Amino acid sequence: MSSEELLRRHEAGGARLAASNARGAAAVPALRTVVVTCMDTRIDVQALFGLGLGEVHTLRNAGGVVTDDVVRSVVVSQRKLGTREVLVVAHSRCGMATFSDDDFSEELAAEVGMRPLWRTYAFADPAVDVQRGVDRLRRDPFLLPETVVRGFVLDIESFALTEVGGDEPAGLAGVRDSA
Ligand SMILES: [Zn+2]
Repeated sequence: MSSEELLRRHEAGGARLAASNARGAAAVPALRTVVVTCMDTRIDVQALFGLGLGEVHTLRNAGGVVTDDVVRSVVVSQRKLGTREVLVVAHSRCGMATFSDDDFSEELAAEVGMRPLWRTYAFADPAVDVQRGVDRLRRDPFLLPETVVRGFVLDIESFALTEVGGDEPAGLAGVRDSA
């Protein structure tokens, strides 16, 4: 069992190393930033942005999609822990671009007899999905109006970042869209 392997490594030094790494790090992110990205095993967020513990909040899921739950965490992060910027980072060759939401749903239904109530939010183009996520955050009424939201696609081979869209502040987008 892999969980046994993880617990063995925790005992063998993981706990000690984690405690040592966390020493001096505050729970409040020093850079006041949230990074939303994919759960892909190849993405090392700390290394990618030259970060140490205590500097940002990192939210990860399949695809780095801005879901209801990501919004929930960003709002808590802002209100309770003082963050003001959000980076949404999807990546090339993402597994979420290899199937469609409908096909996935059908596969599950064929196997278990019912479709899931949730969606996978699979996407064909990571740049399009990042733009949607950025737009969603900019329009969300619970995010602070001064929130800076930026989106990027990470090249999973060179690890270069390409910015998606502009840097319109949250408040203005909200006003424009409700007008
Ligand atoms: Zn991915």
